[in-house]
Amino acid sequence: MTQPDVVSTQQDGHTRSLYAATMNAASERPALAGHQSVDVCVVGAGFTGLSSALHLAEQGFRVAVLEAQRVGFGASGRNGGQIVNSYSRDMDMIEARFGEASARALGDMAFEGNRIIRERIEQYDIQCDLKNGNLFAACNDKQLAALRHHRALWEKYGHRELELLEGEAYRREIGSARYTGALLDHSGGHLHPLNLVMGQAAAFESLGGVIFEHSPMTRLEYGERVSIHTAEGVIEAERAVIAGNAYLGNIVLELADRSMPCGTQVIATEVLDEATAQRLLPTDRAVEDGNYLLDYYRLSAERRLIYGGGVTYGGRDPASIEGAIRPKLLKTFPELENVRIDYAWSGNFLLTLNRLPQFGRLNHNVYYAQGYSGHGVTSSHLAGRLMGEIIKGDSARFDAFAGIKHLPFPGGRRFAVPFSAMGAWYYALRDRLGM
Ligand SMILES: Cc1cc2nc3c(=O)[nH]c(=O)nc-3n(C[C@H](O)[C@H](O)[C@H](O)COP(=O)(O)OP(=O)(O)OC[C@H]3O[C@@H](n4cnc5c(N)ncnc54)[C@H](O)[C@@H]3O)c2cc1C
Repeated sequence: MTQPDVVSTQQDGHTRSLYAATMNAASERPALAGHQSVDVCVVGAGFTGLSSALHLAEQGFRVAVLEAQRVGFGASGRNGGQIVNSYSRDMDMIEARFGEASARALGDMAFEGNRIIRERIEQYDIQCDLKNGNLFAACNDKQLAALRHHRALWEKYGHRELELLEGEAYRREIGSARYTGALLDHSGGHLHPLNLVMGQAAAFESLGGVIFEHSPMTRLEYGERVSIHTAEGVIEAERAVIAGNAYLGNIVLELADRSMPCGTQVIATEVLDEATAQRLLPTDRAVEDGNYLLDYYRLSAERRLIYGGGVTYGGRDPASIEGAIRPKLLKTFPELENVRIDYAWSGNFLLTLNRLPQFGRLNHNVYYAQGYSGHGVTSSHLAGRLMGEIIKGDSARFDAFAGIKHLPFPGGRRFAVPFSAMGAWYYALRDRLGM
């Protein structure tokens, strides 16, 4: 049954999504007005900003967060909700490009973001539908061989909670004939991302932290004390953390130059009956496939199938989100041919050329973390802890990331989108041909 396309619009200041429709109650925060003085000002209330703010508040810093829209408005409040360990590039690439020492340092932190999320949920009793386990599904033998390699690499870096499901063995996890096998990470998982970000905002406020919503930074003024301006006010701080990621736009040119916002789209079905849900995903894990332009999906707490995929370079939406994603869903689960789509939305993540996160300093007292390249749920939480460390005076782990060199996209800012789209077209073709 084809339904009219469900277009994402606004709901309570959030993009209209399944998450916005099922978020825990939260009151709106005021916009910044007038002058404030704090130890640290954080710009952006997504996972990166709020994880940073919470770590800093726990250490006794006076912290204010400026958010352009609502808490969790960006990627953090609308993503696939998949807790995927490590980075968007594997450790062998880091080793080859940046050397053994960098690989060891980043490898030692690759599974920490996941642990931080679980600590936060436990410590602050955050209600966000946490479930355990995620799967990497292989669409062909080449991808299965890559998963074998992936497992060996992660084990080398001490991560042993992996199980390779070869051949039909994956069928006890995924009710689809599409795959040749899968890698199960028992320590991964999935959750309601908007409720996780809101829970961390509430935890931060419970420690005396202050959040201003509807308060976009309009200007950043460097100095011994940094000044962050909005339309109606200014915050002066000893230090600042820039955590606007793909939604920052061009306001900090140094950051815009070496990264590119990309859109990805998600749909959520009507509530499935128990038997159907059990056939599709009997163990209720999250799944992503091994394609370059990957599909990712999972069940929500109320048994809707949340299915995401597709990339639009430059962050523009396709004409019809449902039209773009529904065929992917049906390729995986043909039995859902008549299913109704209740929600369709999109969000922007930030791509870097080497697909590793970008951490660094804009000035001696202004830090940033961004560009998780599609896998940011865990790394953004790690980023928050590292912000806490560097601002406390221990820069070693932050600098392991800051030392990674990031190049501008080929063609510069003007041609980055067409060049990347061409590259993606090539990789998508390889996916289709199983190369
Ligand atoms: C649709 C989608 C699905 C995804 N699925 C997954 C997944 O399943 N697993 C995974 O690991 N990763 C996933 N990602 C990536 C992940 O969501 C992001 O990497 C992560 O949430 C980034 O967090 P962030 O806090 O850095 O950025 P964001 O969450 O985007 O937050 C940035 C915030 O800064 C604010 N801001 C911007 N400019 C200003 C300004 N001038 N002043 C004040 N505030 C400002 C924005 O309004 C926004 O709220 C997905 C991303 C998308 C878009």
